[in-house]
Amino acid sequence: MQIDIITIFPDFFHGPLDYGIIRRAREAGLVNIEIRDLRAFTRDRHRTVDDRPFGGGEGMVLKPEPLFEGVEALNLAPREERAAAKQSVVLLSAQGRRFDQNLASELAGLDRLVLICGRYEGVDERVGTHLADREISIGDYVLSGGELGAAVIVDTVTRLIPGAVGNEASTRQESFFAGPEIGGNDSADKSVRPTRADSTCASGGLLDYPHYTRPAEFRGMKVPEVLVNGNHEDIRRWRRRSALEKTLRNRPDLLDQVRLSDEDKRLLAEILASSHPVASS
Ligand code: SAH
Repeated sequence: MQIDIITIFPDFFHGPLDYGIIRRAREAGLVNIEIRDLRAFTRDRHRTVDDRPFGGGEGMVLKPEPLFEGVEALNLAPREERAAAKQSVVLLSAQGRRFDQNLASELAGLDRLVLICGRYEGVDERVGTHLADREISIGDYVLSGGELGAAVIVDTVTRLIPGAVGNEASTRQESFFAGPEIGGNDSADKSVRPTRADSTCASGGLLDYPHYTRPAEFRGMKVPEVLVNGNHEDIRRWRRRSALEKTLRNRPDLLDQVRLSDEDKRLLAEILASSHPVASS
């Protein structure tokens, strides 16, 4: 996969994309990330990338010319053929579709991804309507620039590229991963279906289950007994229950979006009936 990031602060990316999984994926050639300096596509002596807004108002706006020329220099397929060519030009924008794990999976299937980072008051609207294929927001808040958003997208997408994470099954077990069949024990996908010999469970679109490591007791805080002495099936059920419990407490909205198995429904009923209901808010 080839990822190009267009930015007025190319140095910003020294660091965020140089560690861990992303670094190894780059070194292994699974992803090639190029940072493009927007000023390289200006034609005036001052290398101007911004200008005052038409109609008045605060701040400056990124001009269209360098952005169009910057994307054109990448030799992508014409805009109407980009989807078929597995290419996409994304404008980072607070007004875009909200980024989530499903969108990350979709982007991970591309051969080429171009990320345009806005700054100042934003970007000339013609970039969104005539150059980019889509606008993506990383959340309902306003950043000072698209660079952090681009780094978030590159990180999330890269770790989904097959081979990037050592154990591929692990990305399928994490929070939000809905997979082809949703819902713990009913999953039709063998690689995520828990079996008697497998104590893990796919999140099925819920939050991940809690993880513990040694020591078994730390400052009086004990690891749940079932994880230390339980059998695979007991552990799997405990993890599923914990994932449901945490989702109910922190992100009840996710429960409306997933298809729950019969076991999930039983566990949820148990949780709700327990003496200390977790989600009263
Ligand atoms: N005036 C704009 C905000 C501009 S912030 C508005 O109110 O919507 C400057 C740049 O930061 C934007 O052009 C965009 O590229 C980036 N940005 C800000 N918030 C973002 C978010 N939530 N997700 C992705 N990019 C964001």
